[in-house]
Amino acid sequence: MIRWWSSRQIDPVASTDDELRMIPSWSVILAAGLFIAMQYVFHVVMPHHKHELLPLRLMMGYAWGTLWASYALLLGYVSRDVKRRGMSPGLWMLVCVILPGGIGAVVYFMLRQPILSKCPNCTTSVDASYHFCPQCQFQMAPVCGTCHRGVKITDAFCTQCGHDLAVDGAPQRLRVYSDSD
Ligand SMILES: [Zn+2]
Ligand SMILES: [Zn+2]
Repeated sequence: MIRWWSSRQIDPVASTDDELRMIPSWSVILAAGLFIAMQYVFHVVMPHHKHELLPLRLMMGYAWGTLWASYALLLGYVSRDVKRRGMSPGLWMLVCVILPGGIGAVVYFMLRQPILSKCPNCTTSVDASYHFCPQCQFQMAPVCGTCHRGVKITDAFCTQCGHDLAVDGAPQRLRVYSDSD
């Protein structure tokens, strides 16, 4: 019997909450520090011309502070994201820091590899989009019993071939996900 795994465990579409939790605390602290530093630069360090408008200075300080803070958060995100995709953290952090104006981050988001996860059965690194482990045939996502395309666990019928999914017994097996045979 093919064994099942909870689809939540290896959900390729992570929720926004999960993505936000990826941002490490050092980058949040760095972001706050950079924001405060920009306020300091615009209000204390830069020379105050006689008739300069205060609202303009506030706006510039806010804009630059937000920009640098976002950059710090982005770096934090990339530093975690590279690891779950099996990419080189050192190389990509360098690319993001060196290429100016966030171009490095854009390049990163265009070239990044799919998220890797481990097969719960044999710990092979597998692409999150796989339905079966390439090494041990462990089933990691619910599929149609007839056409073997991916289905949602809440689906009653396959969206591709119309197969009655209840016949596969998939929902029950997904709940227990153990080889009880
Ligand atoms: Zn496996
Ligand atoms: Zn089907």
